[in-house]
Amino acid sequence: MPFRFDNSYARLPDAFFAAIEPTPVSAPEMIRLNHRLATELGIDIARLDSPESLAILAGNQLANGSEPLAMAYSGHQFGGFSPQLGDGRAILLGEVVRHDGVRHDIQLKGSGQTPFSRRGDGRSALGPVLREYIVSEAMAALGVPTTRALAAVATGDNVLREGLMPGGVFTRVAQSHIRIGTFQWFAARKDHDSLKVLADYTIERHYPEAQHAENPYRDLLDGVIERQAKLIAHWMQLGFIHGVMNTDNMAVSGETIDYGPCAFMDAYHPAKTFSSIDHQGRYAFANQGPIGHWNLSRFAETLLPLLDDDPTQAVAEAVAALDAFADIHRTELQKRFTAKIGINDGDVDDWNLVEGLLAAMTDGEADFTLVFRHLSDALDSRDDETVTRLFDQPEAIVEWLSVWRARLYDVDRDQAVALMRRTNPVFIPRNHRVEEAIAAGYDGDFAPFHRLNEVLQQPFTAQPEFTEYEAAPADNEVVRATFCGT
Ligand code: AMP
Ligand code: MG
Repeated sequence: MPFRFDNSYARLPDAFFAAIEPTPVSAPEMIRLNHRLATELGIDIARLDSPESLAILAGNQLANGSEPLAMAYSGHQFGGFSPQLGDGRAILLGEVVRHDGVRHDIQLKGSGQTPFSRRGDGRSALGPVLREYIVSEAMAALGVPTTRALAAVATGDNVLREGLMPGGVFTRVAQSHIRIGTFQWFAARKDHDSLKVLADYTIERHYPEAQHAENPYRDLLDGVIERQAKLIAHWMQLGFIHGVMNTDNMAVSGETIDYGPCAFMDAYHPAKTFSSIDHQGRYAFANQGPIGHWNLSRFAETLLPLLDDDPTQAVAEAVAALDAFADIHRTELQKRFTAKIGINDGDVDDWNLVEGLLAAMTDGEADFTLVFRHLSDALDSRDDETVTRLFDQPEAIVEWLSVWRARLYDVDRDQAVALMRRTNPVFIPRNHRVEEAIAAGYDGDFAPFHRLNEVLQQPFTAQPEFTEYEAAPADNEVVRATFCGT
């Protein structure tokens, strides 16, 4: 058997999940199997590359030791609370424990209906499967905490979306699938006993140091706040827009989860959104920090009964914890963005310099990834043209470049260039390339999908054979909207 499962979630009380098996598909075919990830997780590759494993990863056969289940959770979606969400198209097969003791969920997405499916078919079209594979693995290569892609399978069945489309099953790996919404499920039902079980389980699995704290639940809250505040800053360093930061899509482990209408920005604008359903700009690029805080406030509310027996004191603990968010997020953002312009441990003046650059990029409709990467080339070669030509209106950037050079006058140039080159990627999963890979996939050609995955394995390294993947989209290639993976 490829997997050696040890299923701690299945051992939790019945209220946490519904036991349910995947529904078989007609004619499964493996599109891509992540050997590297399998090796990291101690999964037996030879056995994973077998017809039996294909059957397991398509949901046609149950692996030995698998205790399949759909997790219960609620969530605030675009600000409105839905008490009854849960895994409607995902099934947890089981957990594997990596050699260092870190436990990982192996979950199928698109594997058929569950008791949480409501009107949904529990399936996924091929496009969202390929998208999540590409983007989650790119995020991992970029160094961002994230769920991972173990496999993408074509089902041989069609699903009804905008017409009939080929279906797929995605195998997601996560340190866990516990979300803010999982806590909300029990809080909404005033089931404080289960809430405590969930909090204790989360602490043991993700924040073991909190077990020894005076108030373990306060420590849990602090820990989740810190990881989320830093995670969102990390996204922003790379121009990433999550797109659907509902509380059911925020993992308490601090991993990025749920790659639906996500996108990396091409031209910079702080108010940029991509999601076709985000009409108010709730999840716009520059709103991700404030929304993270809003989501964590909902998390803190669920913990109130655990934080203190005295409700006033419980609220005081929650408020004190939440007050730390802005500082942690801002400090991390400052550190990451000043590094992008070659400055280690930047201060407030350096942050102002960053803001000046971002303002020039907004006005000049400049490509986020290209500008930052080419800044290191400009520093190296003293050739500003490589940067200024990326701007529609070069006046502001010409001025900015001279201020920046003055700031770096005393800084070791090689070190600054090296810092910038490990902070500013050459390759991101550009939307038009992702769409191109998906369109080819729907035509049965997975070569562009595989190629894109290969390029994105080394995002910080120039790869001369793949320069076309660096380029910003031409006007007719620009992707303006992305869609949920439903
Ligand atoms: P998401 O947009 O992935 O965050 O999903 C929001 C909720 O809708 C979750 O409870 C999903 O399980 C559910 N859902 C999304 N797509 C489907 C589908 N095709 N079938 C059943 N449930 C779905
Ligand atoms: Mg979701």
